[in-house]
Amino acid sequence: MNDNILRIAIQKSGRLSEDSLKLIKECGIRFDNGAGKLKTDATNFPAEILFLRDDDIPGYVEDGVAHLGIVGENVSEESCKDVDTVHKLGFSKCRLSIGVLREAEYHGVQDLEGKSIATTYPRLLEQYLKSHNVTADIHEISGSVEIAPSIGLADAVCDIVSSGSTLLSNGLKEVETIFRSEAVMIASKHLSPVQQDLLDQLLFRIKSVQVAKNNKYILLNCPVDAVENITKFLPGMRSPTILPLATEGWCSLHSVINENKFWENIEKIRQAGAEGILVIPIEKMIV
Ligand code: ATP
Ligand code: MG
Repeated sequence: MNDNILRIAIQKSGRLSEDSLKLIKECGIRFDNGAGKLKTDATNFPAEILFLRDDDIPGYVEDGVAHLGIVGENVSEESCKDVDTVHKLGFSKCRLSIGVLREAEYHGVQDLEGKSIATTYPRLLEQYLKSHNVTADIHEISGSVEIAPSIGLADAVCDIVSSGSTLLSNGLKEVETIFRSEAVMIASKHLSPVQQDLLDQLLFRIKSVQVAKNNKYILLNCPVDAVENITKFLPGMRSPTILPLATEGWCSLHSVINENKFWENIEKIRQAGAEGILVIPIEKMIV
């Protein structure tokens, strides 16, 4: 096998696919992902992309067939494969929760003692129950978990939830959250030195993309005597850039701001005398 390239496994089609592809592209890695392809070569980075079922990714990475993989933490943790989680990717956020019938009385996790719980996540559920000293009958099924209580297959379910609407529409209520998940990058424990170096390059690019997403470039006009006040809210990476305007006593101030901070501070910036405020997305940010 070629030790000088990185094989990156991503989900072929599902909730992780689009964001995984987008992230790889935002890192400047180009490849042809024609429909139905299961493997493709990157054209400008020593990498191959494998398109797989998400459940298979941790195993491929453990075996070293793939060197990196993008999966939900839920799938990676449940698989118990011996891989390194090298970075959290911030998308596909969801939680693994226990749900019971809406009309069932529920006071706490002890109420699950002796009950049957249907799930596709038996290991994570078992760990959770064990840590709460509860013994329940874990019923492993591979899909459509939510209907189990209404057809009498189980008393409760343990499944992935994002908004909770699937639980609700199946007559269930969410009673415990046992695990919070997001997409993560996992890596093989047996990378060659070249592959480790390529992984470091890739992580550097991913972090630059993530930082850029959380920040905006801001331009505004203000009276020169308002600069000091406005700078308190827009400290920038080192300090803002100030350029004179053709109008005497006015300048243009350029800075970078965290998007959340922008919404917190925008009123104060305006009250301090800022006008003509432009907010521009940043593509990459090297800090
Ligand atoms: P595959 O066919 O590859 O086995 P799958 O049906 O097992 O796919 P998906 O439903 O595509 O998996 O979900 C993939 C991952 O996306 C989940 O393991 C979880 O980490 C995350 N996920 C699942 N549901 C949601 C949701 N509603 N919102 C956000 N992320 C989710
Ligand atoms: Mg799957």
